[in-house]
Amino acid sequence: MGMLIDVHGHIGRVVPDRSEFIDVTNLITKMDAWGIDKTCVLPLSEHPEGAYLECDTEDVITACSRYPDRLIPFCLIDPRYGNRPDMDFSHLLEEYKSRGCKGIGELLPKMDFDDPRCLNLYRQAGKYNMPVLFDMQDREYGYGLRDDYGLPKLEHALRECPDTIFIGHGPTFWAEISSDVPSDNRSGYPGGPIKPGGAVPRLMRKYPNLWADISAGSGYNAMTRDPVFALEFLDEFQDRILFGTDSCLRSDVNHLYRNVAFIRELREKKKLSNEALEKIEWKNCCRLLNLF
Ligand SMILES: [Zn+2]
Repeated sequence: MGMLIDVHGHIGRVVPDRSEFIDVTNLITKMDAWGIDKTCVLPLSEHPEGAYLECDTEDVITACSRYPDRLIPFCLIDPRYGNRPDMDFSHLLEEYKSRGCKGIGELLPKMDFDDPRCLNLYRQAGKYNMPVLFDMQDREYGYGLRDDYGLPKLEHALRECPDTIFIGHGPTFWAEISSDVPSDNRSGYPGGPIKPGGAVPRLMRKYPNLWADISAGSGYNAMTRDPVFALEFLDEFQDRILFGTDSCLRSDVNHLYRNVAFIRELREKKKLSNEALEKIEWKNCCRLLNLF
């Protein structure tokens, strides 16, 4: 039985445009149109960077409870809550877990990836078996965790928190799939051939607790800028890569989303083994989140 699970979905007000609002029926319509069986729904607005969006953990839990067979809630905790490196988050983690949340994300504060307050959250997430899906954007303002070239801060966290699963996402994470990362486009969508020796493949080889989602423009760009490299990458890391969309607009329903088109093409043109493809489409997500 084939299936498609989106590890990266959103509801509510996800972008600053006040006329945009993804209600849960719109999300279900998109899933039906694109052949997606289940979607993990990720809150954003616990972070001050997303405070005026409307999609916090409560919104997500409520929406997911209307479609328990289709939607899987994640929860979000801001690492700055309590503002200390030993803040105890267990009251939140316990509550969210008991209410069905399967992971933490989308974690995107404008902080260093290995800020002590972040390491503290990662460690506690691991104790509760909650994978952490993060967005990385190395720019001064806006949102997204920060890291230096070669991702030493991510490596620090992977080493310090071996019991925590990290799901990589976002422009800077995916720019680092290549060893040559353009300084003027490190938070964008660098094109052209991928030079071997990049931080992402290096860290994925070294740390079994690093996973990745191939959602959004960033994942799509990394998978399409150098097709030969991407297929080798997907094959090598087939046990830790997750399909996702990161669709953020109501009107996305009117076209076939790029990440869905990408995975369909892999299947139709038989570019990967069926076994590898099924893992990326749904089996990895099931295993990681203990879905069924
Ligand atoms: Zn997202």
